[in-house]
Amino acid sequence: MSEKGAEEFTAAITEAREKIHECARCCNLTEQELCPVCRADGRDTTTICVVEDARDVLAFERTREYRGSYHVLHGTISPMDGVGPEQLRIKQLLNRIADEDITEIIMATNPTVEGEATAMYISKLLAPFGVKVTRLAYGIPVGGDLEYADEVTLRRSLEGRNPL
Ligand SMILES: [Zn+2]
Repeated sequence: MSEKGAEEFTAAITEAREKIHECARCCNLTEQELCPVCRADGRDTTTICVVEDARDVLAFERTREYRGSYHVLHGTISPMDGVGPEQLRIKQLLNRIADEDITEIIMATNPTVEGEATAMYISKLLAPFGVKVTRLAYGIPVGGDLEYADEVTLRRSLEGRNPL
């Protein structure tokens, strides 16, 4: 990269960093007050899909299957990395459940130790609100082979099985 190219690249990154902030409602990343999902008409505002990262929102949006809203935690509880619940956007989530008319929370954190622990922690905090809390079903990847699936994946697939 030329020196001028490098300067332009740095300027673009700096500009993006200055413009992008968290959505006032769901903590997704956006250049405006509210993110495109929160601004959109016709979304189901009674369901919140709780994800770790803004990139997870994009992944769900690509499926075109989910029509509810999101809440981005910006990480998982990870004592090993010094990340506690207060560093995540959990308080903002609780405020939304108190203020908005929410009927279901889908815990869509990753199926990692930290993701599971974070989902459990939040579901305990949600218990007093009497809102339905669900967890994403995990299963065998499409094109995958049962023989090579790990035990956790197989167990989760059994737990999350659906009528055919
Ligand atoms: Zn938003």
